[in-house]
Amino acid sequence: MYIDIHAHLDFFDEKKIASAVENAKKAGVGLIVNAGISPERTKKTLEIMKKYPNIVKGSFGIYPVEMLDLSPEDVDEQFKLIRKLHAEGKVIAIGEVGMDMKEGRELEKQKRNFERFVALALELDLPIVVHSRKAEAECIEILEKLKAKKVVMHCFSGKSLLIERVSRNKWFFSIPANIKFSEHFQKLVKKVDISQLLCETDTPFLHPDKLKDNEPANVVESYKKIAEIKGISLGECEKMIEENYKRVFEL
Ligand SMILES: [Zn+2]
Repeated sequence: MYIDIHAHLDFFDEKKIASAVENAKKAGVGLIVNAGISPERTKKTLEIMKKYPNIVKGSFGIYPVEMLDLSPEDVDEQFKLIRKLHAEGKVIAIGEVGMDMKEGRELEKQKRNFERFVALALELDLPIVVHSRKAEAECIEILEKLKAKKVVMHCFSGKSLLIERVSRNKWFFSIPANIKFSEHFQKLVKKVDISQLLCETDTPFLHPDKLKDNEPANVVESYKKIAEIKGISLGECEKMIEENYKRVFEL
């Protein structure tokens, strides 16, 4: 089966979620990991999981930029909720969390925030799905310092040396469907062993044809491009990536 390890179905209304899930099933997608990245989006994600228990799983965190604006109480509340959900078996990963320096805001605070989430992932023994826009080296440094092992770099835009560093650490890259036109991701896939790759859509963002709303069915575009670059069949690619998924999310 195809697996979309990173989507935000909660950005859609109910009707659109239903059609996106239907389209995903038709395309052969067997699993969608929805990332609830705020207290509110966590609630929505839980509703979606309840409605589509066979196909949607949950990953939880706080989006780095949003975390700067939340009150300490709200942040603590989200940590508490994630621990509770974990005890109930409803969390398969922490994420997306990380740092975002696109707007260049409050680097030191972002570092401290990210460290808290890495520590939580280690405490709960969960994989961590990392958002590292314009702060790739800083994120890697923190993950290395805290000795994180089950790491997935989501939509990683770092340069060659950083790609090599992530590879050496035996972490994973999650390849978005826009690899269809993105030379950066095509190069990344050429460079990295297939045993370290996963696929995602980041629905509703990063549409493979630059259209408005991306959806999990389009994750197949990531698989197709990886298969083409690695010179293997689509079926082989699907199996290998499913094995990778199991190694990170189910061990
Ligand atoms: Zn995302």
